[in-house]
Amino acid sequence: MNRGNLIVISGPSGAGKSTVVSRAMTFRNDICFSTSVTTRKPRPGEVDGVDYFFIDQSRFDEMVRNNELLEHAVYVSNSYGTPAKFVEEQLEKGMNVILDIEIQGAAQVHSNKPEAVMIFIIPPSIDELRKRLTGRGTENEETIEARIQRAIQECREADFYDYIIINDDLDKASEDLSSIMNAELCRFEKKKDVLYSFGK
Ligand code: ADP
Ligand code: 5GP
Repeated sequence: MNRGNLIVISGPSGAGKSTVVSRAMTFRNDICFSTSVTTRKPRPGEVDGVDYFFIDQSRFDEMVRNNELLEHAVYVSNSYGTPAKFVEEQLEKGMNVILDIEIQGAAQVHSNKPEAVMIFIIPPSIDELRKRLTGRGTENEETIEARIQRAIQECREADFYDYIIINDDLDKASEDLSSIMNAELCRFEKKKDVLYSFGK
């Protein structure tokens, strides 16, 4: 069985990353979402072990010390990280593993795992981003402003990504994500064993 692809998705908070990934998961069964650890408090409706593993700072620091995290970063005063073991197990099983992570963590993955597919998702405009963040109703006005400032900064630094998806229409954005996955699965490196078997 072919090893799956490691897919990093970043983009401004509120761009629609988790919505696009969830939509793509309704029509593909080869996608697996990596659940991160965070020191952020759960939002109403968020479930421990599903949305995140909610942990305290001392456990987070211990995971960093033990090299249990593939990458980690601080985002608007909270720590976030990707448990490495789960990702590796799923890639081995042939799954496309999606990391929904911010840009500093993405840069770590890009340099440690150069084969990772880097996708940046953006909303059609900053005004639309503000609307979505407000509409989601999970942050107060001050946090929304901090996230928008961070979004503008991230967009300036995103030049190491391979693909950009503009999430205007949700169906189109999730199809774009799926098309990228298909293209990456057809890469020469991924299929060359089949090619070479013809000459045997
Ligand atoms: P992120 O994971 O990037 O922080 P979310 O997936 O939580 O963003 O989406 C933020 C808000 O925008 C949610 O309320 C979601 O329903 C809404 N949203 C996502 N995609 C679209 C879209 N294409 N058009 C309109 N609203 C969207
Ligand atoms: P939120 O608090 O809205 O769930 O996430 C805030 C930001 O943290 C988002 O940009 C999200 O992509 C990012 N994030 C979530 N999990 C991780 C992670 O494991 N590592 C890193 N570096 N960022 C993460």
